[in-house]
Amino acid sequence: MQNKEVDILVVGAGIIGASVGAELSRRGAKVCVIDKGAVGKGCSYGNAGWMTPCFAMPLPMPGMLIKSMKWLLNPEGPLYIKPSLSLDLANWMYHFMKNMNATQARRAVDALVVLSQKSLTEYEKLGQLYPEIRFQQKGLMMVSRTQAGVAAAVEELEYVKNIGVTGKVLNSDDIQQMEPALKAPLLGGVYFDKEAMAEPYLVVQALAKEIRKNGGEILENCELQDMEISGNRIESVKTSQGTIRAKQIVMATGSWSKSLAKMMRLRVPILGGKGYAMIVPTLEKQPQYPIMLVEKKIAITPRENTLRIAGTLELVDQDFSITQRRVESIKKGAREFLHLPEELQVQELWAGLRPCTPDGVPLIGYHQNLNNLVLAVGHQMLGLQSGAGTGLLVADLVEGKKPFIDMSVVNANRF
Ligand SMILES: Cc1cc2nc3c(=O)[nH]c(=O)nc-3n(C[C@H](O)[C@H](O)[C@H](O)COP(=O)(O)OP(=O)(O)OC[C@H]3O[C@@H](n4cnc5c(N)ncnc54)[C@H](O)[C@@H]3O)c2cc1C
Repeated sequence: MQNKEVDILVVGAGIIGASVGAELSRRGAKVCVIDKGAVGKGCSYGNAGWMTPCFAMPLPMPGMLIKSMKWLLNPEGPLYIKPSLSLDLANWMYHFMKNMNATQARRAVDALVVLSQKSLTEYEKLGQLYPEIRFQQKGLMMVSRTQAGVAAAVEELEYVKNIGVTGKVLNSDDIQQMEPALKAPLLGGVYFDKEAMAEPYLVVQALAKEIRKNGGEILENCELQDMEISGNRIESVKTSQGTIRAKQIVMATGSWSKSLAKMMRLRVPILGGKGYAMIVPTLEKQPQYPIMLVEKKIAITPRENTLRIAGTLELVDQDFSITQRRVESIKKGAREFLHLPEELQVQELWAGLRPCTPDGVPLIGYHQNLNNLVLAVGHQMLGLQSGAGTGLLVADLVEGKKPFIDMSVVNANRF
């Protein structure tokens, strides 16, 4: 590629960049999406595949402080921060604590549920066009063996039931009847009936097909390296494949965004929330529903010929290494609830970095000083479930339409 001119340049081809690119190209813009690697091979590759508006809680929910303190320093806990003397980590933790308040959480959940519900409708349509993404709206079960776990599941339901998320409380017998693959006895849980799942990597691939179908272009192995800024505009961007001039630029660079912050002239305190997912062969007693094992924070997703087991959140800065101890703790946790064979054959083991902002809310919107730069980053644990909605939202912003959520919640300049 030499020099190129487009209407919209999207940087990053994960679920967020692909959703933005697909929506803007659908609305007639000349779109180019670039990625320093391959389409959909970042955090969007191997996630649990859940499209679950019920899980719109930001990480720093009130009440998390005591719980998280217990988990944080336990290398086998569901949430872990390796103690280190990093300024970035200290800053992140400061904002994390600061945002643990009820008003903040309520505003965030209200906005994120809307974003997720819009996404669900879009994914349903995408599933009709591309059946290979295996969109299935079976609902989602949260199950627990402990009083505290059941209480947490019920609290989750209570928190979202007045804003359009439906569900019902399950007792031990209900669970056994619905999902005999779970080991008895379980104490209880919640069933959210509208939630869906799909194959995350294939969703991004389907969106990439949409972009190309609408006349857009996708450049892989094309890294954003620099920006030429003049006054309050980005005149052009320098990439590993040449210079691109664009009327508007959308940054959708996930957990890499913090390292691009200097170039963007903005504080983007995003750290990676490392999680693992393993694909194992279909179990003899294969679950039929996606299931959240509440106290273990493990996500079980039945697939066509396999099962995906995903979990843990370890706060890191661009560290993709796999810690076997944490993988083993996921297996151990899953084994308490499912009939896993003694020798579990792991067909694929994957680690991804969720782009985590300290207040658990994405940064979406125009840069305060660069008036042709839009941010769409920091979707933490809900990038898939809120991805398509983010695509609609960014397209509305670019077209100057009234946004469908309160933009002050996701203010891109708030740090
Ligand atoms: C174990 C696990 C389970 C999860 N389960 C779920 C789930 O069930 N449901 C859900 O909604 N979410 C889930 N998530 C979270 C979800 O995966 C993320 O929120 C989402 O993938 C983030 O998407 P993204 O597009 O922002 O980032 P990414 O998919 O990481 O995409 C960012 C892209 O930007 C590119 N890039 C970076 N820098 C540059 C540059 N300089 N130039 C060009 N390109 C660049 C990267 O190569 C990458 O492809 C899970 C995450 C994990 C780890």
